[in-house]
Amino acid sequence: MCLVEIEGWIKPQIACSTPVADKMKIRTNSDMTLKAQEGVLEFILIDHPLDCPICDQGGECDLQDLTMRFGSDRTRFTDIHFKGKRAVESCDLGPLIRTEMTRCIHCTRCIRFASQMCGVEVLGSTGRGGDMLIGTYVDKSFLSELSGNVIDLCPVGALTSKPYMFKARPWEVKRTGSIDVTDATGTNIILNHKSDRVLRVLPRENEEVNQEWLSDKGRWAVDSVEMQRLVTPMYRCGNSLFEADWKVVLRQIGNVLCCTNPTRIMAVAGPHTNVETLVATKDLLNALGCEHTYVERDFSYSLADVDIRAGFCLNNKMKNTAEADKILLVGTNPRFEAPILNAWIRQAYLQNECDVYVVGPNCDYNYPVNYLGEDLEALSCAQQYIQGSKHPLIFVGVDQLGTSYASQIMHQVMTLTSSLQVEEDWQVINIVTKEASFAGALECGWKPGALKALESINPVVVISLGADEIFHTWDPGYHVKIIYIGFQGDKCSDLASFVLPGSAYTEAGGIFLNMEGRSQLAQRAVTPPGKARHDWKIVRAIAEYTGVDLKYSDETELWRRLAEISPNLLNVDKYQPKLFTDLLLPLIPCEKLESCAPGSLKVEMKTLRDYYCSDIFSSNSPTMVKAYKAAKQLERSAFARI
Ligand code: SF4
Ligand code: SF4
Repeated sequence: MCLVEIEGWIKPQIACSTPVADKMKIRTNSDMTLKAQEGVLEFILIDHPLDCPICDQGGECDLQDLTMRFGSDRTRFTDIHFKGKRAVESCDLGPLIRTEMTRCIHCTRCIRFASQMCGVEVLGSTGRGGDMLIGTYVDKSFLSELSGNVIDLCPVGALTSKPYMFKARPWEVKRTGSIDVTDATGTNIILNHKSDRVLRVLPRENEEVNQEWLSDKGRWAVDSVEMQRLVTPMYRCGNSLFEADWKVVLRQIGNVLCCTNPTRIMAVAGPHTNVETLVATKDLLNALGCEHTYVERDFSYSLADVDIRAGFCLNNKMKNTAEADKILLVGTNPRFEAPILNAWIRQAYLQNECDVYVVGPNCDYNYPVNYLGEDLEALSCAQQYIQGSKHPLIFVGVDQLGTSYASQIMHQVMTLTSSLQVEEDWQVINIVTKEASFAGALECGWKPGALKALESINPVVVISLGADEIFHTWDPGYHVKIIYIGFQGDKCSDLASFVLPGSAYTEAGGIFLNMEGRSQLAQRAVTPPGKARHDWKIVRAIAEYTGVDLKYSDETELWRRLAEISPNLLNVDKYQPKLFTDLLLPLIPCEKLESCAPGSLKVEMKTLRDYYCSDIFSSNSPTMVKAYKAAKQLERSAFARI
């Protein structure tokens, strides 16, 4: 379809592969061009099934659009041999991607995406001309953390989404811009929703963050929002939870908070909490005289704690990763911890011939890596490999920074960095975080290390903002009253004295800071079900029943408060360069340096199987569970390494 007329050339030429020359005169809409394009479409449609009424791509199909714009309204093709149209058997690509290969027009985009972006050489073509087939050569699923993107880039309905099959037509759904919270990359997404249900998630283009890609978890784990859903307030009596009105439960909570010594109250933020809720909860606890606000993740290596943003974020734009010439990964596998960041790393490898070095366990990466070793001794050898690089980057996994040897790791990494000669405004050290709420919480003054805090503070009231993971480890005992504000019932709601139904990210929206510290706004797409409410409004209602005046009653006033805390929170979509990076090294306490035993660097998500159900939210997603099973089966299959 990119045929153009070039003056002096007899035939139309393919624009995408014809080099431009001096004084070349090119016509893109001459009669010859339009006729040639019409001819191309006529050829494609000879063998195309034209089952638009039952095709999931109908209404958003490139072939439909091009035919409307450039095609003819009739065909000259006559099936004189009565052979019928070409029909191709579909292949089984796994539980996520549905194939209807009769519709395939052999553009090979899916093959190129799989091999270039995913680094998975699974798809390919066999045969030529009309006999050409796109497939997997052997019976094998196409599984990758970015596999869903082939659905978006397939120009026809040959590859469609299995979980979304026959659910809605494009013109029936509303579209709302949001932010993916299944990891910390802050991928921009569009929620497609109909009748107050989110039916699918698509990527939204942002050249600085996710380009046009979306991870499979961000795309398909959204069905988890409807699982184990909390829709009504409850209070505990004995071993059972009883439904009650909001007023009844809030009054009881107000009484509990008023009668508790503020030093024995604590709040724990979960992985999906937006900045608005974090600020409202901190303000409430501070007004009561309590400073105990924590995120679940443990993270401590310097005396600066969370005061210096450079200490807990990426210090370079995610986009700049593509310019790196040497990358050192320390105890992290970005492929599964942050697939979008990993796509940038892969881009650096493909376009910039970047060398990737790894200190940590052997994981499944989708670019060649040089293993330096599993312990910190290997880190000290790393210097010789990245010395002389102009654009080196070091990515340190957040999992390593909650350990007893966190200071040791960061001390070594920073010492190594200070010996490098890099361009002036190029920052080398980057922390790869995992939770969407992490950077926002630390920016608002929440502290890391909830588990240690629970053990040392020994609270009698714990407010959990969707935090669940930690309650699998910490046993609260009968004397502790847990107030759970969240949308999904799991371990914490089982233990809670009060369950307050909150909103999922699709319902509440709000501000999230990604791993770069970039503030991004998620719009709310649907209304919370039943009696569920927005989390920050629940916190505000609790404040009212506790006799605390939070000084804001609507979102505009709350945003004014956010601006008081940190202007960066409202600096939406803008990247803020990090300051004071040089101050971090002197703040690492030498007495805290503890030696790291060989093999102590642990990475949780080593293979694709670990990726799909890595947390409570994705484990509750039926689609992710199916993908997990498929990945497990693939590992065992005879074709796993083909
Ligand atoms: Fe129709 Fe497009 Fe589907 Fe082909 S791929 S059947 S043109 S909607
Ligand atoms: Fe066929 Fe779609 Fe792949 Fe293109 S992207 S080769 S149309 S399956």
